[in-house]
Amino acid sequence: MVSPEEGAQRSGEPRSLSGVILTPGGWVHGKVEFTERILGIYGGPVRAPGDAPVILPGFIDLHVHGGGGADFMDAGGAVDVVTRHHARHGTTSLLATTATAQREDLERAVTEIGPRLRLRAPGTARVLGVHLEGPFINAGKLGAQPDAVRPGSLAEVQALDALARVRVVTLAPELPGHLELVRELTRSRVSVQIGHSLATYDESLSALEAGARAFTHLFNAMSGMDHRSPGAAACALAHAENTELIPDLVHVHAGAIRATLRTIEKVHCVTDACAASGMPDGGLTVFGKPALKRGGAVRHADGRLAGSALTMDQALRNLVSIGVSLSNAARHTSTYAADYLGLFDRGRIASGAWADLVVLTPTLELEEVYVEGERIERAA
Ligand SMILES: [Zn+2]
Repeated sequence: MVSPEEGAQRSGEPRSLSGVILTPGGWVHGKVEFTERILGIYGGPVRAPGDAPVILPGFIDLHVHGGGGADFMDAGGAVDVVTRHHARHGTTSLLATTATAQREDLERAVTEIGPRLRLRAPGTARVLGVHLEGPFINAGKLGAQPDAVRPGSLAEVQALDALARVRVVTLAPELPGHLELVRELTRSRVSVQIGHSLATYDESLSALEAGARAFTHLFNAMSGMDHRSPGAAACALAHAENTELIPDLVHVHAGAIRATLRTIEKVHCVTDACAASGMPDGGLTVFGKPALKRGGAVRHADGRLAGSALTMDQALRNLVSIGVSLSNAARHTSTYAADYLGLFDRGRIASGAWADLVVLTPTLELEEVYVEGERIERAA
């Protein structure tokens, strides 16, 4: 149905895709023409996709650790394995997310990520930067993170940033000195997120006032919504403009997802995927410990979730399955993440934007993926 125009395989020559296209102004039935950037969108407005192929902005995942059996913390080519796996599921750009780890392990991982910020390997998603999940988190809310927690250090973030651009840091603001770190990181144009935290409502609010911008995997690994002693999650619902959310329907109940989407406009959905994403059910190592993948969930031996097995195409389908409109689901899986990073030439199908595109069937099965105009081999 949808195919690149004949003879347009050579880079630099425009190609086009036909279908119903989600543009910033609404759905357009017609075609999008592009090289590595979008050249134009031609056609007429329609109210809904109907039974035509659906063309959406490529997915953007700002919290992803691994996939295809590899983890960004691994050495030896892991970066390409992870970014290829997720590109095949429609993720066109992402933040390589590190786990809480010893400083030398973080430095080694970020050293491998750095070159991929400058040169994207064929067939892979664009790495936009690094998300440091910890190590400045609360040892009482580790979730699946290894216990390599240590006091916040601007110097450590700066050293890692020199190896690969750090765009997001997840930290627990209630720990000594961390509010000042929130201010310092914010001044350095790093987005601080509250996560793996036992912060009270008031402590969370102080962090937002100090510059923190969002919450990391809202509801998971944070103080909650108790009505007499509200924690970080309650502060998010009361005040946040942005938040992450994992819509695998395992980490967060559909009802809590609906409540969040009703309350916080710019939710950017993330996978928080671990190495098990894209792997068959069975045992494997996640964050340095044995884990078992079964039925879409990945757990360590103690029963705790060890990250997710999610991909962004499934995230989109999950949102639609719980009643989110397709256009809003596309914003939650792409546009708001780009906006959050201040990247207005990604996450939207508009002239001049990068040609990061996904084509889906009317039932939202992924058909084609383009990263910066490059056609990606489909998922098996
Ligand atoms: Zn994570």
